[in-house]
Amino acid sequence: MKFLIFEIKYKDARGRVGTLKTPHGKIKTPTLMPVIHPGKQTLPVGDYGAELVVTNAYLIYKNDHLREKALEGGVHNLIDFSGPLITDSGSFQLSLYGDVHVSNQEIVEFQEEIGADIGTSLDIPTPPFVKRERAEKELEITIQRAKESLEVRDKLMLNSVVQGSTYPDLRSRCADILGGMDFQVHPIGAVVPLLESYSYREVVEVVMASVKCLPDSRPRHLMGAGHPMVFALAVAMGCDLFDSAAYILFAEDDRLLMPNGTYKLNNLQEMPCYCEVCSSHTPNELQAMDKKERSRLLAQHNLAVSFGEMRTIRQAIIDGSLWELVEQRCRSHPYLLDALRMLKNYQKDLEKYDPPYKKSAFFYSGPESLNRPEVYRHLKRLQQVPKKRKVLLLPPSDKPYSQNIPEISGKFYGMKKGNFENIINKKLQEPSKINLQLHAIKDLQIVVVDVPFAIIPLELDQVYPLAQNESPATYDEDAKKRVREVLQNYIHDFEETVASENVLKSFDLELSDLNLEKEFQITEPVMLEVEDLNRIVCIADYQFGNGSGRALFNGNIKVVKSRKTGKIRHVYVDEGDVERLIVTLRASDGVFVLASEGARRLHHYLPYPKNRVVVNQEAEPFARKGKSIFAKFVINCDIDIRATEEVLIVNENDQLLAFGKSMLNGWEITDFKTGQAVKTRKGGF
Ligand SMILES: [Zn+2]
Repeated sequence: MKFLIFEIKYKDARGRVGTLKTPHGKIKTPTLMPVIHPGKQTLPVGDYGAELVVTNAYLIYKNDHLREKALEGGVHNLIDFSGPLITDSGSFQLSLYGDVHVSNQEIVEFQEEIGADIGTSLDIPTPPFVKRERAEKELEITIQRAKESLEVRDKLMLNSVVQGSTYPDLRSRCADILGGMDFQVHPIGAVVPLLESYSYREVVEVVMASVKCLPDSRPRHLMGAGHPMVFALAVAMGCDLFDSAAYILFAEDDRLLMPNGTYKLNNLQEMPCYCEVCSSHTPNELQAMDKKERSRLLAQHNLAVSFGEMRTIRQAIIDGSLWELVEQRCRSHPYLLDALRMLKNYQKDLEKYDPPYKKSAFFYSGPESLNRPEVYRHLKRLQQVPKKRKVLLLPPSDKPYSQNIPEISGKFYGMKKGNFENIINKKLQEPSKINLQLHAIKDLQIVVVDVPFAIIPLELDQVYPLAQNESPATYDEDAKKRVREVLQNYIHDFEETVASENVLKSFDLELSDLNLEKEFQITEPVMLEVEDLNRIVCIADYQFGNGSGRALFNGNIKVVKSRKTGKIRHVYVDEGDVERLIVTLRASDGVFVLASEGARRLHHYLPYPKNRVVVNQEAEPFARKGKSIFAKFVINCDIDIRATEEVLIVNENDQLLAFGKSMLNGWEITDFKTGQAVKTRKGGF
């Protein structure tokens, strides 16, 4: 491979904050690339935040004057921009006029000659909703020309555009084939008609079908997406680059772009934004100006807002709050909301890329939040936690639940044949057991039922995001329905179910929904407490997989708690002469961070390649010294690793070298040849 140009720094949803290296400098992604018309450069876009621009090589090529100038002084001089520059090939003109007077080979060579950083082959932008036969035929030509462009180029980095109209399987096929060749950036093409007609559902289908087959290590460019309204959604689906002629086209039409829609200057009595233009002009002043000056100022506003939105998105990725931003933005138009709802169909894919542990709390903003990867992941991981024979369902309280529901009493419902009631009442009659602790009842799983995660075993009540989430106290009908469904499914595996009256009330459950019949009272408050060993075993199983808890916490286990909060901090094994630290429970998200002994035990228990990142011989000594692992040294890894997880670093013979935190997921670790894959905590094995 000739070019190693892209690195991921932060991740959230399918979005990434990355850096893209070009001969004219390094830029941050996701970003917007203003489109510069080579004949009429109007705005100093660099001054407004543009780090990368797009211009059209075909327009330069077919104009004698521009062509000569570009061949002589380079395309950067021609458009007066010294930073990284992408050239388009004329496909857009092809889609407009049906034909262009240049061959694929000529236009690729030309882009190289005028010194573009990244060039584009002459693909065929097949419009949405055409007959399948046409989409297939044109796709073959696009792929053929892509291949040809690789033979023609020398040092030019190349775009290769994913086409396939609105056929998801054709988009995937195209992405798969192009992804197997040595291209540097992948635009997703011919979506402009979909964006212009607000067909955002189809945009989701096209983008998701493409990104899932494109290599993770290359930036993706959603071609022609220039409205800030769609940026957050597109980034969350894995798009890194956007191009905009919209800033100038909308300005010339007296329209202002905003992240939540478009304003017409004619309708405004107040400027709706706080950019320099809007702060220092009134709508009347702008309207009184001559057209050219007004367009220039509105374009300046449009760029300021677009770049502001990009910064907001990048910060949201860094904070782990991209989903919250997407949900806000998608509420600005019903069709965007529709697109957000479409993401439900891609939960499985999105979950692979979404980091399990984030800095931000999960904020429920409406029924769409039920379809976020965090909820999907929780219900999946819940299956790793071994089940007991009986289950007690409690209503939610403040979080973490176990600290805020110290005891229970009141009206409960049980099963006809159940004996929970008898056990409780019998024990309560014994005066010495008046402070009965519920965990003393053998084989009882205590579960809090809440929105949006539905089932929260008390042992897990401090694990991210089960404690770190907020939802309105008034439940919406979708949330109630979801909780009912999950709950009914969950209790199947238990021999006996007992539910607090408030669970039934909160979620509109009938007794028969949970096979309950008997009503009984717990008059004396019963203490609720989770045993430490129980808690740490459950957390480990939830975090590392079934059985991991028993494997990690085997022997004479000693739990050390924080004196301030009473929460578990460290877990040691006491081996008589020495105490070894196994894990530390991270206070911020309630999950385990491995220590050397924990890594050793986990490595012994989990079969290869589970939870492992395998490095080559060259990297082995560095790993043992505790140096971080770069993706280029990784020769294999567990594909199910998610970013931000605790992972084991081993050599080809599965000898444990070190352990650390994954920066990427399994797919990304194997695909990337640049950047950090694992932030090593400790070597020394
Ligand atoms: Zn403004």
